[in-house]
Amino acid sequence: MLKDLLTGFVDLVYPPHCPVCKNRLLHYSPYEALCPYCRDTIVHNIPPFCPKCSRHLPDPEQARCRECTQTDFRFDFAWAACLYRSPLRELICAFKYRQRTYLRKPLARLMIDFIGRYRFDIKQFDLIVPIPLFSSRLRERGYNQSYLLAEEISGRYRIGLSCAHLVRARNTEHQTLLSEKERWTNIRKAFRIKRSAELRGKNILIIDDLLTTGATASEAADTLKESGAGTIGILTLAITG
Ligand SMILES: [Zn+2]
Ligand SMILES: [Zn+2]
Repeated sequence: MLKDLLTGFVDLVYPPHCPVCKNRLLHYSPYEALCPYCRDTIVHNIPPFCPKCSRHLPDPEQARCRECTQTDFRFDFAWAACLYRSPLRELICAFKYRQRTYLRKPLARLMIDFIGRYRFDIKQFDLIVPIPLFSSRLRERGYNQSYLLAEEISGRYRIGLSCAHLVRARNTEHQTLLSEKERWTNIRKAFRIKRSAELRGKNILIIDDLLTTGATASEAADTLKESGAGTIGILTLAITG
């Protein structure tokens, strides 16, 4: 009984099974939580990239993607490692909503591999800032998934990490429940800045799990820029579309 409880707990923290296909993992390491088969089914974001948001451009002659032609995003550019498709979609849901925090290492690894593969200049950034959760939501969930990813990225590149400068000013509806237009209204003025003097002239990389309409990332970038920050880049694990 006690052994079962312990095994259950250990499995939750360090599962010896692939969380997607449930097959036993033969070579388990914290950075490779998926079996090789499921790892190969993750859809990576591939070039040519939209220079603004890194969405894959079907036509290499296109200057920007459709979303970036229609919207004036406040961030300077965004990098997204993978497409928001199965099995990554299920992994992100488990990571965000089902307490599977051990996924932070393999998920952050996808972001780090993407940066390395395309030699994106991550060293230009002075500070890494995760998209914050509102305090009541953070209490409810117990962790901020963007912070966990940001922590891994910060450690890998030795760039300072801050969750003290960008905070949620108010609770907002879940963006997933809203239409594209409503998302932009919902997120307006959702963030505020603390210790703004420390951000002046700093190049900041914002970390989030997902780039959908870009409304959240754009609003966070706008708030940081109003405080005098320099270049604002976005790094997400996945992008929709
Ligand atoms: Zn698998
Ligand atoms: Zn774009």
